[in-house]
Amino acid sequence: MSIKRNRVLYYVLFCLLISCNTNRYAKTNKLYKAQLKELTEEIKRPLPYPTAPLITTYDSSGTAILSEDTHRQRDAHWVGAVHFNLRKPNYVIIHHTAQDSLEQTLHTFTVPHTQVSAHYVIGHNGEVYQMLNDYLRGWHAGAGKWGSMTDVNSVSLGIELDNNGNEPFSESQIYSLLSLLDTLKTRYNIPTANFLAHSDIAPTRKNDPSALFPWKKLAERGFGLWPDEVLMTPPENFNPVDALRIIGYDTSNLKAAIIAFKRRYIQNDLTPELTVYDQSVLYSLYLKY
Ligand SMILES: [Zn+2]
Repeated sequence: MSIKRNRVLYYVLFCLLISCNTNRYAKTNKLYKAQLKELTEEIKRPLPYPTAPLITTYDSSGTAILSEDTHRQRDAHWVGAVHFNLRKPNYVIIHHTAQDSLEQTLHTFTVPHTQVSAHYVIGHNGEVYQMLNDYLRGWHAGAGKWGSMTDVNSVSLGIELDNNGNEPFSESQIYSLLSLLDTLKTRYNIPTANFLAHSDIAPTRKNDPSALFPWKKLAERGFGLWPDEVLMTPPENFNPVDALRIIGYDTSNLKAAIIAFKRRYIQNDLTPELTVYDQSVLYSLYLKY
């Protein structure tokens, strides 16, 4: 077969593949649009007061009279401000899918019973699928805590990496992730320290991304902090539990918090204790917060 014919054949196959994909998700893409329409309607409505506010009036003797606000009809007390825009995501949470294929993940995020989603899914070969507009609240973080923040979904973007949890992350996948992070960091002005692992914010429930994830490489590009090359011995009064908490970890289950910390910064040892070396890594990081 000639090279030209080969090319035509590949092109036809490629088009078929694209149209298959488009058709497969046509129904859920429609659902996405319908839900978006509902949210648009919701955002158009000012929220009513939960209870009737009290207002103060004065009688002729100057005595204050407290009464329910009789003018609390929405129209009377609705004054739309004219300066606003959309809330922006301020964190990025990185996950591994723990599934066997990208196709399986796309399926999981588009069937009703799973109740999970992410903004982006990146395949082994580096292809990036966007599943939610960045301004929408995805359902990827679940119950979790970082510092005093408890509703991680409301302030973050979720990125899922197609990976079964036991395999290394491919070069193409990390390359695509880095360029996506570059765009997101610039677009939303996301602070360097706010690129987190799912296991950072939910250490008792989650272990993703695995210890094979190249956090150092990310930190070199400005996504997440990293300890100094030359580590100092922490002072005698250094309190590692306080340090973990100041960084953001929920230390109510200390062992889980230590493992999450080590999965990210130590990686070759996930025992729930902090060795002398681990403590100097923690101290170095703590000084950056
Ligand atoms: Zn996750």
